[in-house]
Amino acid sequence: MFKLMRSLLVSFDPLRENGSLSLKKEFEAWDQPARMVQIRIISFLTGLLYVIASYIERDILSLDTLSFATSLHLYFLPSLLFFISAMTFFQRLYKPMILILAISPVLANMGNLYLTELLRSSPIYLSELYSTEVYLIVIWIFAISGLRFSYALVSASMCFVMTLGYQVYSLMPEEIFYLHQLWMFSAFSFGIVTAFILEKNNKRIFLDARKLEQLATIDKLSGLYNRMKIETYCEIEIERAKLYNETFSLILIDIDYFKEINDTYGHNTGDRVIEQLSKILQKSVRRIDYVGRWGGEEFLILLPKTTAQQAFHIAESIRVTIMENDFSSARNITISAGITEYMNGDTTEKIIQRADEELYKAKESGRNQIQMYDVPFFIEMQEQR
Ligand code: GH3
Ligand code: MG
Ligand code: MG
Repeated sequence: MFKLMRSLLVSFDPLRENGSLSLKKEFEAWDQPARMVQIRIISFLTGLLYVIASYIERDILSLDTLSFATSLHLYFLPSLLFFISAMTFFQRLYKPMILILAISPVLANMGNLYLTELLRSSPIYLSELYSTEVYLIVIWIFAISGLRFSYALVSASMCFVMTLGYQVYSLMPEEIFYLHQLWMFSAFSFGIVTAFILEKNNKRIFLDARKLEQLATIDKLSGLYNRMKIETYCEIEIERAKLYNETFSLILIDIDYFKEINDTYGHNTGDRVIEQLSKILQKSVRRIDYVGRWGGEEFLILLPKTTAQQAFHIAESIRVTIMENDFSSARNITISAGITEYMNGDTTEKIIQRADEELYKAKESGRNQIQMYDVPFFIEMQEQR
């Protein structure tokens, strides 16, 4: 029963599959830029439509109703819609903009009902002229406006109830009343289905894009960044170091005698060791650091705003943690690591090359140890900072 309900909910909302609040937030952030552009264009065009409609109704309405219609269709609604369109240029106005966007069709509908009331004593087709706009408004809210499903539902329901209330109050002929209800119900249900499908498809696209990004940047076995991604972060850090005169360090790690682990316990056990060790690495660094799998059993840790000495302490604590860790399916293992800090004129290649040379020295000097690139003058400069 619970499973059935869950699968039903997931089919309504694909984000529920993973169910976390952060995923929902991630989706909203992903979705927002496109939505802003849609709202900008739609509200601007709708504003223009009202201006055109207002010019047309000059030849239809009599003077006593025209002044209200003009205030509504030429001044108030276009200004409101152009204002919404302008708000989309400012990211921080997103929330109030959405609220105004959700309220605007309700106000338009309210105005139209009032116009219908003003035209009650005129020939029947004039008063019917405005009450039909609610069908378009409902579809506009659901499928065109750019409002999210929940906001659209509230906004369209308000229009629906308001119009129904008016039609009951106005005591229109019964057959016309039923025809209106039929159109309104149809517009509402088509609108809901469209909005629902649009939102669901959007969420699917988001999940697919997210999965593709993960596949392209995350190493499957270790769950760490892959070589390409960690190289990109390295390039970004070099740019940052150049621009802001900041520093960063690299730790290149290689498991000692890993071939023996494979030979003794099998390749699968080797894989489990890589998995467990990756988790340890991830837990041993700060949230601002980047941990990547550089190659088979080699790992690269990128430490922003960190000197080589600070990196040395971190690497040393990682070395001890790994040495003392019980890798349940294999014997204890050790690592060797090479450390270097950013130097002026570094490229990704150069800095990694330096870390690699230090790693080589660590291996040469007997493994299970850390070596740090040592430039006395450079280190002196660092200490003076
Ligand atoms: P050293 O101390 O000199 O590093 O000795 P080593 O045996 O670790 O030598 P090296 O680093 O050259 O060997 C890497 C080995 O790691 C070779 C390969 O069989 C193994 N390896 C690389 N990638 C994987 C992997 O994804 N899974 C497993 N199980 N083994 C891997
Ligand atoms: Mg190796
Ligand atoms: Mg090795």
